Amino acid sequence: MTTILITNDDGINNPGLHALAQALAPLGRVVTVAPDRDNSAISHALTMNRPLRLIELAPDRYSLDGTPSDCVTIGLNKVLSQPPDLLVSGINNGANIGDDINYSGTVSAAIEGAMYAVASVAVSLAGEPPYNFAVAGHIAYLLAERIIGTGLPANTLMNVNVPAGSDIAGLRITRQGRRLWQESVQEISDPNGRPHFWIGGGHAQLESGRDTDSYALHHGYVSITPIHLDLTNHEGISYFKEELGLEAIRITPSLS
Ligand code: MN
Repeated sequence: MTTILITNDDGINNPGLHALAQALAPLGRVVTVAPDRDNSAISHALTMNRPLRLIELAPDRYSLDGTPSDCVTIGLNKVLSQPPDLLVSGINNGANIGDDINYSGTVSAAIEGAMYAVASVAVSLAGEPPYNFAVAGHIAYLLAERIIGTGLPANTLMNVNVPAGSDIAGLRITRQGRRLWQESVQEISDPNGRPHFWIGGGHAQLESGRDTDSYALHHGYVSITPIHLDLTNHEGISYFKEELGLEAIRITPSLS
């Protein structure tokens, strides 16, 4: 039987996770292991300084007092007896595009799945609350059905972003764009007048390249980006060797 592991970063009670579970249920057994609270922007954090408590809320539905990556780790190693056919993370409340995916717990959970060689997908819904997850759930279903039959390239996860609203222009395969923030740190005062800083709420300045995730999303298309795990800049290898000459540096023993 087809088994699908799902998680998110918005927490076990978020409607996006329920919508995802319902949308994927026709494809097989859906097992949920999700954080017990909101973990948005937690990135790929793994909890190693305390034990984790797994609570079975219902058959195949678990909450964990940890991060999205913790949930994938526990789900794959302890909840499931065999690797699942697919891992889906989401449906996130808000887009995960451009540079933001580095902060995303949603995408990081899919990265964790890909590290275990499980076909992994992150699904996010653009826009603002209140979110309507029906369209994004249907798209998750269509993509999951295709991947279960065919698989994904090695060391590659699928990052999916669905535009807000029900008027979808189509699907576009994109690259990760740049998303530059302006005024991304607010300065506020506490009741005693002491200054504090609050990260967030700035204006996103989007790269306009037509092949980017942000361009597709803002023109009404579902953006689908293949993300790979190798962070190496392969062009940087020759620069480090030849321009910087780093391998020719002799370490003088007397300095140590
Ligand atoms: Mn989130």
